[in-house]
Amino acid sequence: MSDVQAPRIDGERQWQSHMEMAKIGATPGGGVCRLSLSDEDKISRDLFVSWAKKAGCHVRVDRVGNIFMRRLGAELDLPPVMTGSHLDTQPLGGRFDGAYGVLAGLEVVRALNDAHIRTRHPLEIVIWTDEEGCRFTTKTMGSAVFAGLRPEADVLDGVDPDGIRFGDELVRIGYAGPEPCGGFPIKAYFENHIEQGPILENEGLPVGVVLGAQGQRAFQITVTGEEGHAGTLPMNLRKDAFLGAARMADALNAVAFNHEPWPVITVGHVRVRPNSRNTIPGQTVFTIDSRHPDADTLAAVKAEMIAVCEGIAANMGLELDVLETNYSAVATFDAELVQSIREAAARWDLPCRDMFSGAGHDACKIAEVAPTAMIFVPCKDGVSHTEREDATPEDLAAGTQILAQVMLDAAEAV
Ligand SMILES: [Zn+2]
Repeated sequence: MSDVQAPRIDGERQWQSHMEMAKIGATPGGGVCRLSLSDEDKISRDLFVSWAKKAGCHVRVDRVGNIFMRRLGAELDLPPVMTGSHLDTQPLGGRFDGAYGVLAGLEVVRALNDAHIRTRHPLEIVIWTDEEGCRFTTKTMGSAVFAGLRPEADVLDGVDPDGIRFGDELVRIGYAGPEPCGGFPIKAYFENHIEQGPILENEGLPVGVVLGAQGQRAFQITVTGEEGHAGTLPMNLRKDAFLGAARMADALNAVAFNHEPWPVITVGHVRVRPNSRNTIPGQTVFTIDSRHPDADTLAAVKAEMIAVCEGIAANMGLELDVLETNYSAVATFDAELVQSIREAAARWDLPCRDMFSGAGHDACKIAEVAPTAMIFVPCKDGVSHTEREDATPEDLAAGTQILAQVMLDAAEAV
């Protein structure tokens, strides 16, 4: 542990900034819609960058739109101590998922500025592009390219359901930067995030020390049958692609209960073609999201899921095409950084517990290339990816106070 106590962060200032950010893309139900590379994404990026510049940060943007905002260190060439998250949201998302992590980083910089504390290593706040993955092909795109886990060209050439290309949208909103993506060392990466689950709230704890995250495999399944007239084609002659997909969804749900502890399996997005009231569906495309903390179990679940879909397709005379759209390995965070979070929590008298993340995060990708750890704070009723998502200013401030301490410890006050 370092000798230097971090300055007390300003929880009220952080909350004000947070609520101002939440106005961008605000939905009638109290949530936020800032789809990746939309106008709202651009406006939120512009606002954050203006705040970071005001706090004295130097701004760089890379070729996939990741934004790096650096508070210089006393020694210019040292690798940065980095923190950040994302500003994009689900279509009916909440105010805190992602936004909290970048705003926590900003509050740390502001608090250090106020206290005139300099560090040996630079500090860097990062906004990763397209964490949510609900508009283009998959999630955590910016951080995955940074970590060398996805080719830059793949991401730039991805298209949304309207056929709009990722790379073109990036240019349109003004965030196709000149910097190569990745390729520089990071001393330590921290990410603050709401838990998105019920554990901390149930136990009345303000802080979770995250040890790692479960692995995830995601698929796009295309079921092809034959279109036909809803009034004239007898039931026994039909090849109904939606009915096949519906039976697969039910069977996939059952697969989850074949394993102990349960994996989580979700069919969340369905597209029916031609999607007409009186035409038998000729094609249905749906997504599967599967997750488990053990890599072997996750692989067994994959094999079982494909087998049940193949069985149903064969029975119904349907064609099946399976595309794996995302694989995120089980993430294990850096033991030293995890310990530094526990020590900072003790120092600031904030009760905490160790835990695993059920959700994937940018931090899981960065863990592949830099020492990484995450700090969780509670969210109301454990809900996220909904307009109802909520968190208290006090809990957010507690998480940020710990972030300030661990960043200062890692960056070394001078
Ligand atoms: Zn998030």
